[in-house]
Amino acid sequence: MTQPETHQFQAETQKLLNIIINSIYTNREIFLRELISNASDALDKVRFEQNRGSQIVEPEKDLEIRIDLDKTNRWITVSDTGIGMTKQEVVNNLGTIAQSGTEEFLKKVTENNENPDNIIGRFGVGFYSVFMVAEQVIIKSRSAFGEENPVQWHSKGLGEYEVQELEEDIGRGTQVEIGLQDGDQEFLDAERLKSIIRNHSNFISFPIYVDGEKVNTVPALWKQSKFQITQEQYDEFYKFLTYDTEGPLETIHVSVDAPVQFSALLFIPPRTTAMFDTYNEDYGLDLYVNRVLIQRRNQEVIPQYLGFLKGVVDSEDLPLNLSRETVQENTLIQKISSTLTKQVLNRLQEMAQKRPEDYATFWREHGKLFKLGYTDFGNRDKFAELLRFNSSVHDSAEELTSLQEYVDRMKTSQQEIYYISGSSREGILSNPHLELLRKKGIEVLFLYEPVDEFVLQAVGSYKDYPLKAAEHVNPGDLENIASEEESKEEQPELSQQEQSQLEEMLGRMKQRLGDSVTEVRRSQRLSESPACLVNPDGSMSSQMQKIMHMMQKDDSVPKQILEINPDHPLTRNMLSIYRNNPEDSFLDKATDQLFEAALLQTGYLPDPHSLVTRSFDILADASRWYTQANKLNL
Ligand code: ADP
Repeated sequence: MTQPETHQFQAETQKLLNIIINSIYTNREIFLRELISNASDALDKVRFEQNRGSQIVEPEKDLEIRIDLDKTNRWITVSDTGIGMTKQEVVNNLGTIAQSGTEEFLKKVTENNENPDNIIGRFGVGFYSVFMVAEQVIIKSRSAFGEENPVQWHSKGLGEYEVQELEEDIGRGTQVEIGLQDGDQEFLDAERLKSIIRNHSNFISFPIYVDGEKVNTVPALWKQSKFQITQEQYDEFYKFLTYDTEGPLETIHVSVDAPVQFSALLFIPPRTTAMFDTYNEDYGLDLYVNRVLIQRRNQEVIPQYLGFLKGVVDSEDLPLNLSRETVQENTLIQKISSTLTKQVLNRLQEMAQKRPEDYATFWREHGKLFKLGYTDFGNRDKFAELLRFNSSVHDSAEELTSLQEYVDRMKTSQQEIYYISGSSREGILSNPHLELLRKKGIEVLFLYEPVDEFVLQAVGSYKDYPLKAAEHVNPGDLENIASEEESKEEQPELSQQEQSQLEEMLGRMKQRLGDSVTEVRRSQRLSESPACLVNPDGSMSSQMQKIMHMMQKDDSVPKQILEINPDHPLTRNMLSIYRNNPEDSFLDKATDQLFEAALLQTGYLPDPHSLVTRSFDILADASRWYTQANKLNL
């Protein structure tokens, strides 16, 4: 044995250790799950190296995990015949935090002030969780590569650890020796340990022995016929894979022979695991070649928009020496991916038809990221069937419709499917562009998320009905559809002369607004609001334009057409004022206010101060005229 060298834990690691040591998390047994999972990974790695023909020490050694108890001295030893670690690897792997899940855990505890006891189990903080039960830990490891002596690591989890070389031969692999702290005697009971293993580690594909007796049953569930598997077994496997406490929302078990042979066992979790609406790199399926694990969370076997899926894919057609690097170019993998994608989309469609409530759960939890599938042109029709939207026929923002249901409700002579964007249902309901469609009783899809417009643009049309933004409706196209509600206050028709005076007044308004608008014109689409802005570039809705502006970091206000409702009482009053005196300053005030209010409604008003100040001004005018008219002067 060489002299021990003392090292300090990296600051982050020590922070994590302090949290773990001080935690009063009651489900401490999960430390065993974490150690067994590490041992299993190490065994997977050795098998992988062996299959690709690498030289490893003791190649004939059985791949297994052994747990031995020393009741007298209160030690538990978890050993594996896996890949092992060199001295340098021990220092790198066990002194620092490399795992993104652990980082996420730390962030939640330190920044978001979450109670660690509630989330340790979910994150699985890896090796360090052993300090929930250990007073001290000794690790002995012998790497599968090279001639280096075995190494020993020793720590009490308090600031530092020691490493030293060992002269004795401990054989390939790693032994984790746990000196239990007071009060954790329960883990010295072999029966207790066996039941923990059956609970958390039953699907580990290497034999696990407790004091010499084999515990786990080792079925590669996905390779069995689905007729022999119960939903309980599926649920158990799902929980093993994900650490979820509930069962999956949907289980998809497929076995395919052509164009490439593979089996897959996939699950849709009942809740999203995406943080901040992205999976980051944390998605994918475990890829096996004939039961040998090639890669965890492989991202080539499913497209990212199906990243909510958890599970495994196993193919006998892939070469065993497939390296993590060549997976990407492998054409068989691409075939598996496209076959799986179709199977999953079909299954979602079936779920939508047979279990609409579960589908609604799927949509609520995973819909946001699923929508990114709009880029999958090959599956566009299937994808379009699976989309869901809130719409004007609903009573609340929570209800959903499919495009098919929309089409089933369409008016006889309606030729297009309409949508409108806004950040909330209330916002959309007050959007002037909804007025014409509402009056005609035509349904409009409500889009609340920026991505929705991209989705609908990519989908383009559904069953030959073009998808169109409400603001691009040409009022003339809807002439054949009768109005369902009458205008609230019927205004007298304008005479020929009044018509031309109105045109003049609109010209005067344009003059006032100058280059801020491209045109001021009379509107055929408004029935309740006095004015609205319309995008002159008919190909892009104002919402889409706004997103483009944001992406290009362009904060200029796009020039739009100001449309004025000729039948609104305000317009009629302005016309009377104009006829009396075309230069009346009230017209300027009203024009500015109408324009800025319309800008506010489209979300483009850079600074609301002038709008607010002017509104006080107008209220002062109005109240003065009111008191004068009603002779209320003090
Ligand atoms: P994780 O296993 O999630 O990466 P851990 O903190 O549990 O995180 O382990 C850190 C690293 O230590 C592992 O990634 C692995 O490289 C190494 N390691 C842990 N246990 C073993 C073992 N039994 N055999 C070989 N390497 C191990």
